[in-house]
Amino acid sequence: MKPAAVIRVEDVPTHPAFRALADVRGVQHELRYASHNNFAGRVLYRGFDCAWLRAEAAAGLEAAATWLQHQHPGWRLCVLDALRPQRVQEAIWADVVGTPMAMYFADPARGSIHSYGMAVDVTLVSPEGGEADMGSGFDEMALASHPALHAEHLASGLLTPQHVALRDRLRDAMAAGGFDGIPTEWWHFDHGDRDAVRRSFPRVD
Ligand SMILES: [Zn+2]
Repeated sequence: MKPAAVIRVEDVPTHPAFRALADVRGVQHELRYASHNNFAGRVLYRGFDCAWLRAEAAAGLEAAATWLQHQHPGWRLCVLDALRPQRVQEAIWADVVGTPMAMYFADPARGSIHSYGMAVDVTLVSPEGGEADMGSGFDEMALASHPALHAEHLASGLLTPQHVALRDRLRDAMAAGGFDGIPTEWWHFDHGDRDAVRRSFPRVD
């Protein structure tokens, strides 16, 4: 699908539709693609500032963090990926196309909701300050990461009730902020309707 409009990632910080993650109250961030600590083992965001979301998604994330603090005092959200420029989506696609990892990434021809600043990858931080054990890691592209298979994984013992309870807690917090999860990644959430996002918002290249 052709985007409604395109803007450059370099222009995001001065664009009124976007908000910095640093300004989202109650949320910390550690962008894995800005480090070597990711599936590719290299810095995918070299030279790009990707610590941004569209204002609608940023407001939803703030609401999710507020819900979490009320329901589970001491627990926090940590953003692992947010705005992902189309240029980076294309580089990732070149790495994964033709491999089993391809199912975990959007074909850049269609476009990732991350490239609109309307998707976020996020995990829970416990009151003790560490990332919660969710039963599989961020970007662990395996069936253990699929929320659609939780009942099966509980039955087989691949996930513990505690793992699933924490994933449900994350999903409930994000739902309170207007985010929907997906069947294949416990960490990924879209804000609002994906087709509407692709139709009406500018894509960040
Ligand atoms: Zn994602």
